[in-house]
Amino acid sequence: MRIEYRQSRWRNAREFLEPLIFELRDEEPTEIPPLGEIPGEVRRKHISIPNLSEPEVVRHYVRLSKMNYGIDDGPYWLGSCTMKYNPKICEAVASWDEVKWMHPDQPIDTVQGCLKLMYELSSLLRMITDLDRFSFQPMAGAHGEYTGCLIIRKYHEDRGEERDEIIIPDSAHGTNFASAAMAGFKVIRIPAYKDGTIDIDALESAISNKTAGMMVTNPNTLGIYEDKLDVISDMIHEAGGLMYYDGANFNALIGRVSLKKMGIDIAHLNLHKTFATPHGAGGPGAGAIGVVEKLYEYLPIPVVEYDGKKYYLRYDLPRTVGKVSGYYGNFSVLVKAYLYLLMLGWEGLKTVSGISVLNSNYAYVKASQIEGLEPIYGENKIRKHEFVLSSAKLFKEKGIRARDIAKRLMDYGYHPPTVYFPPIVKEALMFEPTETENKREIDGYIEALKRIVNEDPEILKNAPYNTAIGRLDEARAVKDMILSWKMMKRRSSPGRIRNRR
Ligand SMILES: *Cc1c(COP(=O)(O)O)cnc(C)c1O
Repeated sequence: MRIEYRQSRWRNAREFLEPLIFELRDEEPTEIPPLGEIPGEVRRKHISIPNLSEPEVVRHYVRLSKMNYGIDDGPYWLGSCTMKYNPKICEAVASWDEVKWMHPDQPIDTVQGCLKLMYELSSLLRMITDLDRFSFQPMAGAHGEYTGCLIIRKYHEDRGEERDEIIIPDSAHGTNFASAAMAGFKVIRIPAYKDGTIDIDALESAISNKTAGMMVTNPNTLGIYEDKLDVISDMIHEAGGLMYYDGANFNALIGRVSLKKMGIDIAHLNLHKTFATPHGAGGPGAGAIGVVEKLYEYLPIPVVEYDGKKYYLRYDLPRTVGKVSGYYGNFSVLVKAYLYLLMLGWEGLKTVSGISVLNSNYAYVKASQIEGLEPIYGENKIRKHEFVLSSAKLFKEKGIRARDIAKRLMDYGYHPPTVYFPPIVKEALMFEPTETENKREIDGYIEALKRIVNEDPEILKNAPYNTAIGRLDEARAVKDMILSWKMMKRRSSPGRIRNRR
């Protein structure tokens, strides 16, 4: 019943192919009203904004929103992204006047509340991770990684050591390789064991006196917990390196682990994934970065401190890597994370991690019973917040690709999973149900998957059918990038979308 309902809910999307707002406007350019103070020579004569009435604008955006799919429409099992339901109250508080009209240049006496919030948020994250100090400057997870790599670089430079290699396992998130390379390191890749965890023998032979550090993602991109991190950290520390922990997906672990006991020196958390900020399509985010005490002086400036009476901003960290963004980071994301933590409390947070793992394992067992979907690594291991299945068998036997399954899910009213990631699994489908879905929703999703793999493969190849736009030519989208409306207008043919109906 649920599936039929979802399908019919989406079936009409094709009828709404909404033009761009620029295509809706009148032909004449908008006259700019006189703007008293602006001198004539810098004033524009015409401005290219659509000349539409308020109801036209409202209707345009409402129609667009109906073409879209979001977490408030239905399940969104996009592995590694933690697309969970975010309590609306967090959004409401972040838009209070007292929050949104703050200016980062205000004298600190007038923003004691904001500084207190940041200070207390870092105390809460200290409890959650067991690390000692936090900076909220990085604007995203990858930005936190990059900042961490800058710290690793500076740490070795200060000690007069020439270390330019970072070890990263194959099962790490793709951004780790890019962040290390951007910070000037050579990346040494090591494989995973068949059980999905880091291959310790390969690690042993990768370590040298050039090792600056290691970056691990935990749970790794297979959704599997790296249970030998204490041993691995000892190996890296003995060789003189630092341990970086990608904690972007902390959903599975909140309230249950100590990064310090794992031997971690630097870590980032994605506040926008784990701690309730709607995200995607590039923001907004906060890649809070935490370090052990000995690396405190390397954090980006300023850091928020408290002298017993007043909160203040400290700029004189002797070894700081400098600034990695303007001011103090994405403040509204910090507000939402703080509120989320206070609302749930310690027991609530443990429930979050418990249910995220329970949901993922329930869905894993059910989905891997579907003929043609198989785990490649760690078959009998417990999953954390997510799991990866390969549809390589379906490709071999029926020509069905992971991509086809993902696209067809849209016709059933579900957001597709992450596909072709991690790259160590062929025809990978990566599912993350998150803790905010219940059994009904999980069963519905699995049922849709089951129906899809049993459909005529020809149907799957051209899916989706019920969305506003059909199958995109992804290769062309990369080779022939049309990134704006103006670029599209400049082309003789607007055929940016093969299947536009
Ligand atoms: C999402 C994610 C990142 C990157 O975070 P962004 O905020 O998108 O930059 C890094 N590592 C892991 C494991 C992730 O899931």
